[in-house]
Amino acid sequence: MENRSLAADLLIIGGGSAGCMAAIRALELNPDLKVVIFEKADIKYSGSIARGMDALNIVAIPNFTSPELYLEAITEGCQGVVDGPPSYLMAARSFELLKKLQSWGVYFPTDESGRFRTLKYHVKGEFQTAMEEPDLKVMISAMALKKGATAVNRVMGLSLLQNDGRAAGAIGLNVRTGELVICSAKAVILCAGGQARFSLPNSGYLYGTFDYPGNSGDGYVMAFEAGAGLTGMEYARRTILIKDANIPLLAISVTRGGRVMDIFDNILMENEVNEMHRMEEAVAMGHGPLRIQLSHLKPEVIEEIEHILFSTERPVQERFFKGRGIDFRKRDIELWPTEAQVCGGHGMAGAVVNAKAETGVPGLYAAGDVACVPKQHLTGAFVFGEVAAEGAVEFIAAQPAVTLDDGHVKRVEQERNRRFTRAGREIEVQELEYKVRRLIGDYVLSPKNEYKLKNWLEWAKRFEAEMQDRVLVRNGHELSRLYEVENIARCATLSALASLERKESRWGDAHHRVDYPKRDDRNYRCHIVIHKDAGGEIRLGTRPVAGMGGKEVAA
Ligand SMILES: Cc1cc2nc3c(=O)[nH]c(=O)nc-3n(C[C@H](O)[C@H](O)[C@H](O)COP(=O)(O)OP(=O)(O)OC[C@H]3O[C@@H](n4cnc5c(N)ncnc54)[C@H](O)[C@@H]3O)c2cc1C
Repeated sequence: MENRSLAADLLIIGGGSAGCMAAIRALELNPDLKVVIFEKADIKYSGSIARGMDALNIVAIPNFTSPELYLEAITEGCQGVVDGPPSYLMAARSFELLKKLQSWGVYFPTDESGRFRTLKYHVKGEFQTAMEEPDLKVMISAMALKKGATAVNRVMGLSLLQNDGRAAGAIGLNVRTGELVICSAKAVILCAGGQARFSLPNSGYLYGTFDYPGNSGDGYVMAFEAGAGLTGMEYARRTILIKDANIPLLAISVTRGGRVMDIFDNILMENEVNEMHRMEEAVAMGHGPLRIQLSHLKPEVIEEIEHILFSTERPVQERFFKGRGIDFRKRDIELWPTEAQVCGGHGMAGAVVNAKAETGVPGLYAAGDVACVPKQHLTGAFVFGEVAAEGAVEFIAAQPAVTLDDGHVKRVEQERNRRFTRAGREIEVQELEYKVRRLIGDYVLSPKNEYKLKNWLEWAKRFEAEMQDRVLVRNGHELSRLYEVENIARCATLSALASLERKESRWGDAHHRVDYPKRDDRNYRCHIVIHKDAGGEIRLGTRPVAGMGGKEVAA
């Protein structure tokens, strides 16, 4: 198979929310830049906002809320483990972002007096701001292309290229043909999302996940292999969602007056969604299935919720509820805990970045769910997509051209060819994925303990050997899936190692060590950072939380 070669100034890996925004911003700043986007799927509909979105979860509206109040809210929400500067910057740029989106035609509902529709999602302040844009992804991807970015669809970023420790492009794999695509670049922005396919969802469907299933932690592995630090990998978040459909609706329905109830009709949350731990506790006590009740709401509020769920969020829900004969006016919506995910958007896991989206590897930036700006959601993906682009454009201007590391390309190519050999390979990749994710559920998730976590490390070795020599690869698609499963397993190992290091319990179900059941602020109100040293050894350590005005975070 011939390799395909491309040369860019800026390579963006992942054409989702952050990736599109990064491309737009880079080309706004310098329309002459050659910007290439590796996108594993098709940029038009890929990523967490496969189509539309109903809210920007963080907007600090002037004279209503403030970045300072947001910092208080997020610090409390993360139980103190959050760096001030990136979260503050995100909130400080959030209103400007809203105005920019508005100028592009994105609709943000307002009342008669012109006040934006805000909802209570955080412990303090109303930062969640309603948005109605069923075609948001189509819109931003079209804009990135119109500005001159080249989207290379169906290409999965596999491995970052480096020159003397500096980012120099990446090697990608066509997920249909198995062809390698080599793109040299003076700077790289990682925007490949989080790890959506961590444990199995309760439905057992490999792709029936809350988050976009194409996000298989590739960005975490690429960053780690390049020497960047990862943090928060022990934070594996499991949400309680619409049973079987695994679609979220708490932030849409409860914030508008819906009630989360247990089987004894105790109301666990109403109007606000900041007490999710009550849901976890109720489920743990066997007080589930939980359900959302909307029947007490005014007809126009139910209609508003239906409108959002059936048009902007995930239109398939209309068919799902109709098929089950569920009318929100008469019947409650059953909820169920689903798969765990590792993510910097809803969770706290990802590449260590500072407020400039720098990773610590010169020329390598990370934005969106792949980066650890805790619970940054869509606002963070958009803001840090822009911030990363601004930094990258400046960096590129000061850098000489990069040279291609032929040896690295050769190694990846040989490895790819080896996977295509048939002898001794009999395990179907989807069977292996099922088993890997089942065991992640058994050993890596809460309730955690040393025995279970170490057991995963043993299993990981076994899986590694199987992935090397026993998985059947008949075409490029199966090969890409094998690489994805490898990344899923590697994320699990990083999560298990970080979980072993955090010898306390924090963040409810996201990190519950039964052998260290208490929260220990004295020793663990800090980040667990994991990175690979120059000799290829995995190193774990702690890093203090960066306060405002304090030290910048270096990876
Ligand atoms: C169901 C759902 C509802 C949400 N609702 C809200 C909300 O109402 N408000 C809010 O503020 N936030 C919301 N969020 C969060 C928000 O959408 C995400 O935080 C944000 O979109 C993440 O952007 P991203 O660019 O990091 O990831 P994504 O938009 O997921 O993009 C990642 C892209 O990378 C591609 N990719 C993955 N791996 C590779 C690879 N190896 N090579 C090349 N490409 C790759 C993927 O195909 C994808 O296109 C929601 C998320 C979900 C899943």
